[in-house]
Amino acid sequence: MKEITAIQPQLHPALANTRLQLAIYTATGRLVDKRKSTVDADSLPDYQELRTQANDIKRHAIDHLDHYLELFERNVEANGGKVIWCRDGKEVVDFLLTLAKQRKSKILVKSKSMTTEEIHLNDHLEEHGLEPVETDLGEYILQLAHEKPYHIVAPALHMTRYEVADLFEEKLQLKREEVPEKQTQIARGILREKFLEADIGVSGANFLVADSGAVVLVENEGNARLSTTAPKVHVAVAGIEKVIPRAQDLATFLKLLGRSGTGQQLTVYTSFLSGPRRKGEIDGPEEFYVVLLDNGRTKVLQDADKRQALFCIRCGACLNICPVYRRIGGHNYPWVYSGPIGAILTPQFKGLDKDPWLPHASSLCGACGEVCPVKIEIPRLLLELRADIEQAKAAKGEDKSEKLGFQAWAKLMSSPQLYRAASAAGSWVLQDMGDGGWSSKLPFFMNLGPAKGWLSARDMPLPPGESFRQLWRNRRKQDGTQAQPAQTQPSRAGKTSQGRQPE
Ligand code: SF4
Repeated sequence: MKEITAIQPQLHPALANTRLQLAIYTATGRLVDKRKSTVDADSLPDYQELRTQANDIKRHAIDHLDHYLELFERNVEANGGKVIWCRDGKEVVDFLLTLAKQRKSKILVKSKSMTTEEIHLNDHLEEHGLEPVETDLGEYILQLAHEKPYHIVAPALHMTRYEVADLFEEKLQLKREEVPEKQTQIARGILREKFLEADIGVSGANFLVADSGAVVLVENEGNARLSTTAPKVHVAVAGIEKVIPRAQDLATFLKLLGRSGTGQQLTVYTSFLSGPRRKGEIDGPEEFYVVLLDNGRTKVLQDADKRQALFCIRCGACLNICPVYRRIGGHNYPWVYSGPIGAILTPQFKGLDKDPWLPHASSLCGACGEVCPVKIEIPRLLLELRADIEQAKAAKGEDKSEKLGFQAWAKLMSSPQLYRAASAAGSWVLQDMGDGGWSSKLPFFMNLGPAKGWLSARDMPLPPGESFRQLWRNRRKQDGTQAQPAQTQPSRAGKTSQGRQPE
């Protein structure tokens, strides 16, 4: 909790911005409703079985990652393409810079890719005089605004059409246009030219199919298809966790991805890209590269349990349903991955000490785990990460207050005498507080620290006149009965333990 308190000032502007709150709430609410209508029992009776299958496939692929990546590489090469292994973003940038230099290319068209956002690819290419152009409409808007994506699936979810109108007017020097369809036409006109001018197209990958060497892309705008086929060179940049064993596994994932992300049975375009253009084909690139990026993934793999975070297929369903994401929005998360998946991926990639508030940014309502199409146990992983953070702090000798607090609590709860005395004292003090709640009437120094934020908007009800113990005693007196001796039950250790009566 202390970590959350520390970042509260950073959150206030988003929380106080009613326009932004409405935009996030409306957009995510629409996605939640659409998802729900496409995964209910009438629309997809085998939805839960598909989730289990998806989890099994991902677990198997991640457990045998080396095998499937090598198989994927062999098949890409058999198709005439080339696989480039990169440890980090720098190696990806170096590869692309060399390629652009060799092909004398200035403009690179890009389709939406969180992996390239992860390594700030655009910034690095621009630093070297190249012109990367985002061609997904939301990403194009964000590139003009110099912002990072707000959401995994809907990158400009936080912007209204009026803000887009302002942006286009300022950056493109065009007549103000507030109608979304017209704004799309403006972007389309500009981007069509870029597709024709670019020599290199950069994409991400939704799936890498090991048994065929295919890169699979799903999208709704057709820009990924143009980015990967119009330029002479196609480079797909993918995290190593994107590999799945067989083409037939896509039958499971494609049914889940569109439904979970945007409430579509299938996205508008699904492209299977396997190698450069072959003789006789009318389109496709002359050169085909797949960059396999580690960038911290092998570190995540080392934890056999928590590495299930790598199963993520980036559908965004956990963001849409999350009460925390829906209030604080995407830009308050420190990395490109926001929402519940960001809260479990970021600490594993960046280290536990970087943003220790992240795993605490959850009400643990469990909704994220319930909607995740690949059944990642997000709430449990959040708890595990919280425990890891506390253990790391304890190992460094930092912050003993939580430990001391829990030790005192354990002492109190394990001693009937102490518990009785504490509840009697608490009840006696609180009854004196008058009507209504009590916490706001405490002396100011008792409302400091983590309690302050919580109590600034809430109060605690007065306890009832009689405690449970008193009620029980009175009831026994009224009934004129004595409690029966407790049953003697075997304990786990095989010994017997005497059950305790309420006192
Ligand atoms: S964690 Fe699950 S629900 Fe969240 S984006 Fe990834 S696949 Fe979707």
